[in-house]
Amino acid sequence: MKAEFITSAADTGGFPETSLPEIAFIGRSNVGKSSMINALLGRKKLVKVGNTPGKTKLINFFNIEDKYIFVDLPGYGYAKTSKAERKKWGRLIENYLKARKQLKACVLIIDIRRIPSGDDFLMIEWLSENEIPIILTATKKDKVSRNELDKHISKIAEALSVTADAVLPFSATRKDGVEMVWNNITYVLKG
Ligand code: GDP
Repeated sequence: MKAEFITSAADTGGFPETSLPEIAFIGRSNVGKSSMINALLGRKKLVKVGNTPGKTKLINFFNIEDKYIFVDLPGYGYAKTSKAERKKWGRLIENYLKARKQLKACVLIIDIRRIPSGDDFLMIEWLSENEIPIILTATKKDKVSRNELDKHISKIAEALSVTADAVLPFSATRKDGVEMVWNNITYVLKG
């Protein structure tokens, strides 16, 4: 699959001028967002994995086969981030989510082992209020045993008041769930 880095943006002015449909990826810092994007694209290092959390917050844009754009939003909730830095982050994300008419859906990434955080709740609430479709994924599936999987998924689903089948299990290391997430992306892109 052809996937190319387009640009990084620190503010609205830096967003690329294209009208291709966009799919944005978001989640807590270090949740496995870069690894998920790489796994979906079948690439090893298009997006840098294990970037120092809390570093300069930028939005990265990737052209996928000249058909649509994957948008890597900066991770939230990193404990050591200063208040001012968080504010800047919030504004940048909000500006992106509000301004981008071509945004088709947000892939929200949660760690399968954790109960969603306050930041996850806020993000889901905000996306729902703004009528942005959410593709909910639970990554690092390889970290839980097969017989614990359902328990983890139902806990997440319960915490977010969604049905268990709305939470898509994923593992970047095992490339598990790639097809399922792609199916959901393709579905929203068609809509
Ligand atoms: P980001 O900060 O959200 O972009 O997270 P990264 O993709 O950089 O991943 C953070 C850490 O989690 C890295 O050490 C990855 O190797 C690890 N990681 C990411 N996805 C998975 C996964 O599916 N399974 C496991 N076991 N580790 C993962």
